Amino acid sequence: MQILNTPHEVTELCKSWHAQGQSIALVPTMGYYHAGHEDLMDAGRTMADKLVVSLFVNPTQFGPGEDLASYPRDEERDAEICRQHGVDLLFMPKPESMFFADHATWVEVPEMAKVLCGQSRPLHFRGVCTVVLKLFAISLADHAVFGQKDWQQQAILKRMVRDLNIPIHLHTRPTVRESDGLALSSRNLYLTKEERSQAPKIYEGLQLARKLVQSGEKSAARLRDQVLAFWAREIPLGRLDYLTVVDKESLTVLETIDDNALLACAVRLGRARLIDNIQLSAES
Ligand code: AMP
Repeated sequence: MQILNTPHEVTELCKSWHAQGQSIALVPTMGYYHAGHEDLMDAGRTMADKLVVSLFVNPTQFGPGEDLASYPRDEERDAEICRQHGVDLLFMPKPESMFFADHATWVEVPEMAKVLCGQSRPLHFRGVCTVVLKLFAISLADHAVFGQKDWQQQAILKRMVRDLNIPIHLHTRPTVRESDGLALSSRNLYLTKEERSQAPKIYEGLQLARKLVQSGEKSAARLRDQVLAFWAREIPLGRLDYLTVVDKESLTVLETIDDNALLACAVRLGRARLIDNIQLSAES
């Protein structure tokens, strides 16, 4: 496995792979790997001849007062995990090699970025779209792999790729969970023991919503009330950021549940802000 730190070196290597007729899959990450990241790497490994993982805690997607400085990092362990998963190139740029001091170009999908996480993180998806488009350009990737846990992110990136005719195939992998249902996240590290014991109730609440839909509930408002009542009982330490039913592709807010309805949430538990989602009409 090669480890490179500058965009130029990565582009040169990836160009040489393409010149040899080899395809490239990219997995963008912020590091501190768990089984969710490993699943994306394994999926990427099967898609192309060469597998590139980027590890970059992108400052432009963090707002003031968010956890940029304290975001967990362990580059040595992450590099070892990449080796174990057959990664050909690990790209670990420094912020200054990704963003010039006078960086002035931003990519935005404003309609889709104003709901869900965008309400409390107004510039987050602008940072995500811009850095991911840069990573696509730097790596010349034919495929890129994302996780369903960040549903809004992958929906926005799909729209960006479609709207801008970017020649890449995006793939989305199901959320990897702990055995008690908690979605794996690098930020789970922030949870105290007591918070951790309440955290699985987030997904239980989403599953409860799906059961209600399966028994005929069509009103997003009633569904929301039921889940909030369950969480009020089961997650006393939690503070709601949002719980919203949206169309899973356009992210338009829905009042009536249909086959494309997605229930997405963010819940603050202590220092952690945990996100999760569920497709209301899916079987599992
Ligand atoms: P992050 O390093 O948290 O920015 O995530 C990098 C990629 O891993 C994103 O595409 C995430 O959606 C994905 N990811 C994060 N957590 C999970 C999970 N529990 N299951 C599957 N994919 C995940």
